[in-house]
Amino acid sequence: MLDKKKFYINGHWVSPEKENELKVINPATEENCAVISIGNKEDIDKAVKSAKDAFESWSQTSKEYRIKLIENLYLNYKKRWNDFAKTITMEMGAPKEFASKLQVGAGASHTKSFIKYLKKFEFEKPLGDHAPNQRLIYEPKGVCALITPWNWPMNQVCLKVMPALSAGCTMVLKPSELAPLSAMILAEIIDEVKFPPGVFNLVNGNGEITGNALTSHPDIDMISFTGSTRAGALISKNAANDFKRVSLELGGKGANIIFKDADPEAVERGASRCFRNSGQSCNAPTRMLVEKSIYKETLNKLKKFANDFKVDDPEKDGQHIGPVISNTQHEKIQKLIQKGIDEGAKLIAGGLGKPNGLSKGYYVKPTVFADVNNSMEIAQTEIFGPVLSVIPFETEEEAISIANDTNYGLANYIQSKDNEKVRRVARKLRSGMVDVNGAGLAVDAPFGGFKHSGIGREAGQEGIHEFLEVKSVGGWS
Ligand code: NAD
Repeated sequence: MLDKKKFYINGHWVSPEKENELKVINPATEENCAVISIGNKEDIDKAVKSAKDAFESWSQTSKEYRIKLIENLYLNYKKRWNDFAKTITMEMGAPKEFASKLQVGAGASHTKSFIKYLKKFEFEKPLGDHAPNQRLIYEPKGVCALITPWNWPMNQVCLKVMPALSAGCTMVLKPSELAPLSAMILAEIIDEVKFPPGVFNLVNGNGEITGNALTSHPDIDMISFTGSTRAGALISKNAANDFKRVSLELGGKGANIIFKDADPEAVERGASRCFRNSGQSCNAPTRMLVEKSIYKETLNKLKKFANDFKVDDPEKDGQHIGPVISNTQHEKIQKLIQKGIDEGAKLIAGGLGKPNGLSKGYYVKPTVFADVNNSMEIAQTEIFGPVLSVIPFETEEEAISIANDTNYGLANYIQSKDNEKVRRVARKLRSGMVDVNGAGLAVDAPFGGFKHSGIGREAGQEGIHEFLEVKSVGGWS
C-alpha cells in the first residue's frame, strides 16, 4: 500500500498538522491501494498563507517566464505518462488503454492548448480603435481554491491548474479523496520543474472538513469547483459571504436526439458515449430521444449493443469498461435501476446485480431502459453509471421540449443529416454544449453548462479568462 500521507505546501512535502488517515480503495479489487491524510483547518491555513505570500511576486511575473515553466511541466507530464495511466487505473478503475489514451491524454492536450493560448493572450489591450485612450488590463484573480472530482482526474486538474498558472494566480488544489494519487504525481512534476514555492499547493481531504475549510477561508479570492450540483450549491453559499469569485462545473443529464434520418451508427455511438468511463461523465448522453418511426428498430439495436458491451478488469487490455468508483456509487446506481423498474420503465438490457464473473469490484451491467417518461426519476437524476434511458418522440418541437425539460444544461447531442434542422434544434437547446453527428467538441471549445450544470466555462481562451479580472483604465496614453 502506498504511503501518500504528506501534502505539498510552500515547495515542500509536509506531514499533516494532525494525523487523520484515509484509505484509497482500488474499485476493481475493493482493496486499499494507498493511504492519504485528511487535511484540517490548520493545514488549509498553512497552504492558503503560502499561496497568498507567493501571489505578490508570481502575479507580477512575465508571461514568457510562465510559458517556460508550463512548457517544462508539459514535457515532464509526457515523461510520466505511464505512471499517470497506471495510477488512474488503480485509483478510479479506468481500463488501461482508456486511462492512457483518454484520461492522461485529456490532461496533456489541455495543457498543450493552454500554452498555445497563453502565447497569444494579450494581458493589456486598447478597448478598440474608437477609444484609443481606454485600456483593458487583465489581472490574475488571486489565490484560488481548486476542487476536483474523481471521474476524469487529470482532465479536471489540468483544466484548473494550467489556466490558473497561466493567468498568474496562486492556488491550493484539493483533489477528490477517492482518486487523489494522479494529482500527487502532478505535484511532484511541479516540484521538479521548480515553480516558485507557494504558487501551487496540494492538500488532500474530504469535502466536509478540508473542502469546507478551503472554500470558507477569507484569503481565498476564487473557487474553481468541479463536482456534484449538491456540493456546488454549498460552496456557493460559502463564497457568498465575502464575494469570492466562483466557477462551477457540475452535473448533467444530456439528451441525444436521434431523428429518423440519423446516420446508421448514431444509435450505437450514442450508447457507447453513455457507457464510456462506466457512465461516469458529466457530459454523457444518458437520455436517448428517438423519433417514433425508428423507435422499434432502435430498441433492437440497443438491446444487442448493450448485451454485447464488455465490462471487465481494468488491468486487462481492450475496449471494455471497468467498475464504477465506489461501493456507495454502486449501491446508488442499483437503487436507481430498481427505481426505474418500479416506475414502469421497460428494462431491455442489463439490470440489477453485477455482470457474470465479476463478483469482486464495483461493476455494473450496461443497462438500457425503454419507454421512459421524462418525468421519471431515472430521466431526471444524474445516475453516473452505465444506464441509458430511451424516450420516444413524434415531432421536432416535442424532442426539444423533452431535451430541455431538466434542471441540467450541460451537453446535448443531435443526430440528423438535415443541416437546416440541426441548426434549428441546436439553437433551441438550453445547454452549454451541443454535439452534432458525433463530431465531438474541440479541446479548446468552451466547456460548461447552463442552469444547474454550473457557472463559467473551462478550456482554451475562455478557461484562462475565468482566472482573470479585467481592469478598465481611462486616459491611458
Ligand atoms: P462531489 O461533489 O461529491 O465531489 C467533488 C469534489 O468536491 C471532491 O473533491 C470532494 O471532496 C469535494 N467536495 C464535496 N463536498 C464539498 C463541500 N461541501 N465543500 C467543498 N468541497 C466539497 O462530486 P463527485 O462525486 O466527486 O463527482 C461527480 C460529480 O461531478 C457529478 O455530479 C458530475 O457530473 C460532476 N462533474 C462535472 C463536470 C463538469 O465539468 N461539469 C466534470 C466532471 C464531473
